Amino acid sequence: MLNRIRSLADTLIFPRSCEICSSVLPASNPGLCRACESNLRWIRAPHCVACGRTVTAENQRCAECASEHFHFDRAYACVYYEEPVKKLLHLYKFGGRKVLKNFFSGVMDCFIREHFRHMLFDVVVSVPLDKKKERERGFNQSRLLSAHVSRQLGLTEATDKLRRRETTAPQSRLGKAERRRNVKGCFEVLDLGFFRLKKILLVDDILTTGQTASECAHALKNAGAAWITALACARGV
Ligand SMILES: [Zn+2]
Ligand SMILES: [Zn+2]
Repeated sequence: MLNRIRSLADTLIFPRSCEICSSVLPASNPGLCRACESNLRWIRAPHCVACGRTVTAENQRCAECASEHFHFDRAYACVYYEEPVKKLLHLYKFGGRKVLKNFFSGVMDCFIREHFRHMLFDVVVSVPLDKKKERERGFNQSRLLSAHVSRQLGLTEATDKLRRRETTAPQSRLGKAERRRNVKGCFEVLDLGFFRLKKILLVDDILTTGQTASECAHALKNAGAAWITALACARGV
């Protein structure tokens, strides 16, 4: 009862509004109104067995990633990186709207419920940010999501056993070959032995060429990980 009064008071004092169109939202529904939410484009199954793009039949690999080598075993992304997701992710990472972790966690919950029903994982990690960037931003956007996902799945969150070794140039400003070079060897496992024979769910906010997740998976595989599934909120078309 007390919680309901608090939540009602909270709504009256700070009415929540849709991040895109500013229409007023119920307190229980942060992020987007129904109309804006209907513009999200989910990445439907069947998924490419490597990168998670939609393909025409089960067990196919898509033409876009056929020549790529990834260190993760499979990758998935929930929605396409286009409006309104582009704006929301930007607000979340750079606009001080940390509260949007609830919205993106909800997106991941939906995707996991629909597509990961028969998958078993041992541990959840997120792609680490380098310390300087994490200090500047005040949080690691992917780690907030992996913390949520690990709670939902009842698993340990172990990003603290990983480190991003050095400051790399932002991937978003680089071409494909440069992205690969930029992240090569930049992740390090701190607790050797912890990931041995484990099935890992590797969470990130966005999958573009897949090079960052792949390089992170490389470090985990070198530490003996048995299987790595990468899951991002969004990916380019
Ligand atoms: Zn709206
Ligand atoms: Zn593919």
